[in-house]
Amino acid sequence: MQFEALIHTFRILDVIDILTVAIGIYYMYKLLKDTRAVALLKGLLFLAILNVLSHVLNLYVINWILQQGMTVILFALPVVFQPELRRALEQLGRGRIFSKAQNVNEEEMDMAIDEVMAAARVMSREHTGALIVFEREVGLNDFIDTGIIVDAVLSRELIKNIFVPSTPLHDGAMIIRNGRIQAAGCLLPLTEDRTLSTELGTRHRAAIGLSEQTDAVVVVVSEETGVISYTYGGHIYRHLPEDQIKEALRTFMERPRQNITSMWKWGGKK
Ligand code: ATP
Ligand code: MG
Repeated sequence: MQFEALIHTFRILDVIDILTVAIGIYYMYKLLKDTRAVALLKGLLFLAILNVLSHVLNLYVINWILQQGMTVILFALPVVFQPELRRALEQLGRGRIFSKAQNVNEEEMDMAIDEVMAAARVMSREHTGALIVFEREVGLNDFIDTGIIVDAVLSRELIKNIFVPSTPLHDGAMIIRNGRIQAAGCLLPLTEDRTLSTELGTRHRAAIGLSEQTDAVVVVVSEETGVISYTYGGHIYRHLPEDQIKEALRTFMERPRQNITSMWKWGGKK
């Protein structure tokens, strides 16, 4: 009976209403997945369940404490989720939420990755430090603005040239956009992760930091050890064979819409 009444009063606007919310939740999930927000959300979910349980079971003291705690948490949320919220708003503002993959075809991206890895191999042998960022869906203009615009066709020679020590562009990160070298000498945000090995200095921390705040993939060549590593989603993957790094880059850059969490099994964390 109730169901029938519901059917009768159901309007097309209700469909739009529900769809909008569903799409909203889907994109929220997409933005938050692979970020540290997921762990926080799980914590919140646990508290919410505890709250309901204590209410149902009439555990007054626990319920009272949780109620008070919830208010504090609600106010703390925007602070804790600040990077994620910022990212979400940025994507919304740039209209990139529904955006297409990069407008580079697979062949061009393959070549770009080959060039980067060829340069990385040489720089690794010569112990030249390098920090190379691949922009994906989240725009990196904020970071590009801190460096020098290059806007050049990507080649292994140019990459090696950029990272020659004591040249003007070697300090900082190079950013690749749509298969071109967009900028060099860019300043990236350092991660605040205190659990990282002390072996990892500021170059590696900058690579991890950017990957925490955006969906970029960053390739690092260590000046001290020559080790080539890459970062994504706040994790650093080190000591991998070159073909595995290449394969990872291909997956990130050429199939950006795929579920890439499966990549995480490679190399383990940190
Ligand atoms: P390496 O293994 O190459 O020595 P590292 O992780 O030990 O790397 P440092 O020795 O501190 O790091 O590397 C310093 C270099 O890293 C700087 O010269 C600069 O080029 C780069 N770098 C440091 N911080 C940043 C940053 N915030 N953004 C971009 N590049 C940075
Ligand atoms: Mg160092």
